[in-house]
Amino acid sequence: TLVAGGLALSLAACGGDDDSASGGSDGGGKGTIGVAMPTKSSERWIADGNNIKEQLEAAGYDVDLQYAEDDIPTQVSQVENMITKGVDTLVIAAIDGTALGEVLSTAESQDIDIISYDRLIRDSDAVDYYTTFDNFQVGVLQAESLVTGLEERGKPPYNVELFAGSPDDNNATFFWDGAMSILQPMIDSGDIVVPSGQTEFDQAAILRWDPATAQKRMEDILTKTYSSETVEGVLSPYDGLSLGIIAALQGNGYGGGGKDLPVVTGQDAEVQSVKSILADEQYSTIFKDTRELAEVTVDMIVALGNGDEPEVNDTETYDNGVKVVPSYLLDPVVVYKDDVQSVLVDSGYYTEDELK
Ligand code: BGC
Repeated sequence: TLVAGGLALSLAACGGDDDSASGGSDGGGKGTIGVAMPTKSSERWIADGNNIKEQLEAAGYDVDLQYAEDDIPTQVSQVENMITKGVDTLVIAAIDGTALGEVLSTAESQDIDIISYDRLIRDSDAVDYYTTFDNFQVGVLQAESLVTGLEERGKPPYNVELFAGSPDDNNATFFWDGAMSILQPMIDSGDIVVPSGQTEFDQAAILRWDPATAQKRMEDILTKTYSSETVEGVLSPYDGLSLGIIAALQGNGYGGGGKDLPVVTGQDAEVQSVKSILADEQYSTIFKDTRELAEVTVDMIVALGNGDEPEVNDTETYDNGVKVVPSYLLDPVVVYKDDVQSVLVDSGYYTEDELK
């Protein structure tokens, strides 16, 4: 309930107005772009949608922006509707990266350009481009910050528990692989111990990135595994999960009475988690500037519209099972308490008031 209340609050703070097709309004006459986002239950996607919409409209496009509340059939039918409406380009952040193959074949047959946004769409040769952050590096930064926090607390061995993202999101394995590139050697050497024994991606994965599921898993682990021991670190791949994990820990007496909260990582620099970092609860997060991601995506759309070749900077990493999708990767940035002002406020991403 703690988590749900918090999310509701931050959503209200974001406005969360219902963006629908610009329909009849005649933008700048450059055409219509369909933008399919996964959910409004996490701030980052609200910011992504708003940023792309604003920037596309400024460039003279009409925008049909839709959110699917993490429901796969809803997203499929939203994309179908966009195709029926005759959009020129589709920008899609998929809920399930493998569920869009059929609908995208239809789009391809109608010469609609398809940009996979943030999350790679798998098993489809219809995907033309991919814009995202260096997802392996996100995991590396998460694990490195976890280790930094652990080292601040004392000497190894450290008791650590591991969480991963949604198994149907291609990013989740990249985050995990990046993190494990740092953590696995430490597990092998005994510097890190995982008392639950759950060290496989499948055991750590949280379907649909659901905070309540993460809270429940953390509670179960604490009940089953930790009687006399304490947990000192938790690898969490996303701020929403971190909130759930911290709620479970607090419910089990951590963060008071002489039992410190463990070092907990995150991702997305969402308002509630930044506040949690400022309050010395969550330890770190990874900032991915959604303004920049929107910018490179809009640049691609403009290039395609002009008949030019869009700029990419990676043509090797993102094999979707059928083809290697030409990608533009941006750099993620780790944020500790001391970086909140310089990285998040000075850059204009948040105002000081929003973080109070
Ligand atoms: C995104 C992350 C986000 C997660 C949950 C991932 O695909 O890359 O930024 O934390 O989904 O929404």
